[in-house]
Amino acid sequence: MAISFAHTYAQLPEHFFYRQAPTPVPNPQLIQVNLPLAQELGIDSDWIKSPEGLAMLSGNQLPASCDPLALAYAGHQFGGFVPRLGDGRALLLGELKGRDIQLKGSGRTPFSRGGDGKSALGPVLREYLVSEAMFALGVPTTRALAAVTTGERILRQEGEVSGGILTRVAASHIRVGTFQYFAAQDDQEAVQILADYSIKRHYPKAESYLELLESVISAQALLIAHWMSLGFIHGVMNTDNFSISGETIDYGPCAFMDEFHPECVFSSIDRGSRYAWSKQAQIAHWNLTRFAETLLPLLAPTPDEAIPIAEEALKQFGPQFRSHYQTRFRAKLGLPHDAPPAFIEETLGVLANQQLDFTLFFRELTKLAGDRETSFFNSLEEWVKKWRQLSQPDLAEMQAHNPILIPRNHRIEEAIQAAERGDYTPFHRFSKAWQNPYSESPDSADLEKPPLPEEKVQQTFCGT
Ligand code: AMP
Ligand code: MG
Repeated sequence: MAISFAHTYAQLPEHFFYRQAPTPVPNPQLIQVNLPLAQELGIDSDWIKSPEGLAMLSGNQLPASCDPLALAYAGHQFGGFVPRLGDGRALLLGELKGRDIQLKGSGRTPFSRGGDGKSALGPVLREYLVSEAMFALGVPTTRALAAVTTGERILRQEGEVSGGILTRVAASHIRVGTFQYFAAQDDQEAVQILADYSIKRHYPKAESYLELLESVISAQALLIAHWMSLGFIHGVMNTDNFSISGETIDYGPCAFMDEFHPECVFSSIDRGSRYAWSKQAQIAHWNLTRFAETLLPLLAPTPDEAIPIAEEALKQFGPQFRSHYQTRFRAKLGLPHDAPPAFIEETLGVLANQQLDFTLFFRELTKLAGDRETSFFNSLEEWVKKWRQLSQPDLAEMQAHNPILIPRNHRIEEAIQAAERGDYTPFHRFSKAWQNPYSESPDSADLEKPPLPEEKVQQTFCGT
């Protein structure tokens, strides 16, 4: 079967990317291919599972219609600007059905700096599991088409580990950092070309650059509220990991919280807690402000005219975010639409004080609302009394907002550790179970449980 990639990004000016072939790997083995996603993309199931399919997914032999590119971008990393980052270990193969198909971990590129351009198996499995779970939870996200092992041992902080490659599917890989790359070089022509391309690809209804800015602001307000309502912490919300399309992108040291704490951080590299759960809206606003700065010359002829226009647009972020956040938490709590937001914060305060498991709390509350047995609230009598006064539970709404299964960190670690020993059983089991996060299944009852104290994962690592 011929697979036919489109190349709209490759048609942009030459300085937007480098053409780069992947580095062959010694012994590629398929771990998993996402057949429903392959089908959506128009890829033949038998072909993707064949030796030719594996040759593509491992970068060993690309189909003729691929035009592999390492994209250029910059970014603020933990607040400090790096003018040149780019795809140091990833290659865009081309587009299928308007979506980017990218190999992550396929070898060095002109953007690799000191890195080896490879991915460790652990982070490949983590991104596969978490991005697909996010999709099943209903959150805008990049997808995972396949995970392979390369047969190579690579060196990471923790020693030698197995190498892997993830095939990622994204609405696009345009980041705030992509705009910053050109803006920092004062290449206004490139910024405009990128803005036009982004409008065409992601926001075709936008009739001006201001509307592009507003669209990205709205998409991110929706996304961050959605993350927070599920207890998700991205972990590295640098501007290079902040997508223009509004998808969650670059799953590094991310995590779903077990015990709720608003200041929760997992990432081993986030020493200042810059990207804690509760700070994500503020950081998104900061990132969007960096995006707006790159667009200033497109908004008006002079900065004096452009800045108030951008500021006005950025002011919309807070109210939009709060509205989505409150809507989601009201639904989770079974509260009517006009319930006072103070009760949401009061509830989160109780969760934090009592060190309660975030997902389990809402899962058990759904049971309580449905008059099912639960002992979870025995020590929360005061809170329950108040909740009963305020709530008007819509069970279907509560069920749709309160997942039963989330990809818990200790399970991801379990899957990674087993895979390092050559056992993919946990990976396959979790990956399947997390496709149905809102339905009860006796087979997955153990996956609902929070970690035991000794199972708790304190930190997550980038490590790819
Ligand atoms: P990320 O951790 O995905 O946000 O990556 C930040 C930057 O580091 C990007 O420019 C990556 O391409 C680059 N990078 C991360 N890991 C590697 C690696 N193993 N080899 C080369 N570049 C890398
Ligand atoms: Mg990144």
